[in-house]
Amino acid sequence: MRILVTGGAGFIGSHLADALLDRGHEVVLSDDLSTGRPENLPARADFVEGDFRDPAIVERLFSGRHFDAICHQGAQTSVSVSTREPVRDAEVNVVGSIRLLEAATAHEVPLFIFASTGGAIYGEVPEGTQASIETQPAPLSPYACSKLAFEHYLRAYVQTHDIQTRVLRYANVYGPRQDPHGEAGVVAIFCGRILSNAPIQVNAKSAKGDRGCVRDYVYIDDVVAANLAAVEGRMTAPLINVGTGIGTDTQQLAEVLLAKGKSQGSTSEMDFGDVRDGDLQRSVLQPSRIPGLESFVDIETGLARTYAWFEARAAALES
Ligand code: NAD
Repeated sequence: MRILVTGGAGFIGSHLADALLDRGHEVVLSDDLSTGRPENLPARADFVEGDFRDPAIVERLFSGRHFDAICHQGAQTSVSVSTREPVRDAEVNVVGSIRLLEAATAHEVPLFIFASTGGAIYGEVPEGTQASIETQPAPLSPYACSKLAFEHYLRAYVQTHDIQTRVLRYANVYGPRQDPHGEAGVVAIFCGRILSNAPIQVNAKSAKGDRGCVRDYVYIDDVVAANLAAVEGRMTAPLINVGTGIGTDTQQLAEVLLAKGKSQGSTSEMDFGDVRDGDLQRSVLQPSRIPGLESFVDIETGLARTYAWFEARAAALES
C-alpha cells in the first residue's frame, strides 16, 4: 500500500512510518517541522516539508501519487498552546485537517485514519470509572474541542463521500522520541531531568503534596499496532479508544523513573508542586479491542525502555 503519514517527523508519526516501512508499505511523510525533528524521519520514506494548511503544499503531496490510506498524525498537540492560541490550534487541527480531507476525497483516497485524543476529549473521568467510546465527550480545552470538531467532519464526510474513516482516540502516549510538550510530556521531562541530576516535580492533583494527576499511559508500540490494524483493514470499528484502562499517578511515574536513575548514579530528588491550571485530575480510558494486539506493554517495561532511550540519546549528545 502507499500511505501518507502526516506529522511524520513527530513522535508517533515517525514510529508509525518505521513500522509501515518494515511491513513493506510505501510511505510518504508530511511535516512542517514545527515540533517534529528531521532526525526522526526514516531515510526510506519520501518527505514533503511544509504546512498542510497551505493549499500549495497539499497539492504537492497529492499530485502524481495515489494513496491507499492517510494516517493523519500531524497536529498542534499542546493543550497549553491551545489555551493561549486557540485560533492557531483550530487553524491547524480543524482547517488544516479539512484541507487534507478535501484532498483525500478529491483524489479518491479510500481510507482516512485520524489521531484523536481520548486523553482530553472526555474531560474529567470520575474516580473508579473508565471513559468508553459511548461516554459523552466533554472537552475542557480548545485542543480537545478542535479534535472533537474534526471527528464530526469525518462523520459528515462519510455520509456524503466515498471514503472510510477510522478514529483512534489515544490515551497519554509515551516512549522513545517523545516530546516534552505533548500529552504524556511528563515522562520525557522526568527522564531528561533525572539524567541531568535535576529535581523532578510532582504537580498536585488537588492539593500540594498529593500523588498528582492520574493518567492512562499507553506505550508507543501499542499505538503503532492500533494504526497498523486500521491501515491494513483489520480494524472494523470506525472509532476506538487506544488506552490500557490502567490509571497511573504522577508520583508512581516519578518513583519508577527515579529508581532507574538512582541505580545508575543520578542524584535527582522528588519535589512537589501546586495544581497546574487546566490539568485534568483524572483520565482513564476503557480499552477497545485492537485486532492483532494481545496485551499492552506494562508501565514498568515501557518506562524502562523509554528511560534507556533518553539515556542513550544523552550519551550520544555528550560524545
Ligand atoms: P508531535 O508534536 O511529536 O507530532 C506532531 C507533528 O505534526 C510534528 O512533527 C509537527 O511538526 C507536525 N505538524 C504540526 N503542525 C503541522 C502542520 N500545520 N503541517 C505539517 N505538519 C505539522 O506529537 P505526537 O505526540 O506525535 O502526536 C501525534 C498525534 O497524536 C497528534 O495528532 C496528537 O494530537 C495525537 N495525540 C497524541 C497523544 C500523546 O500523548 N502524544 C495523545 C493523544 C493524541
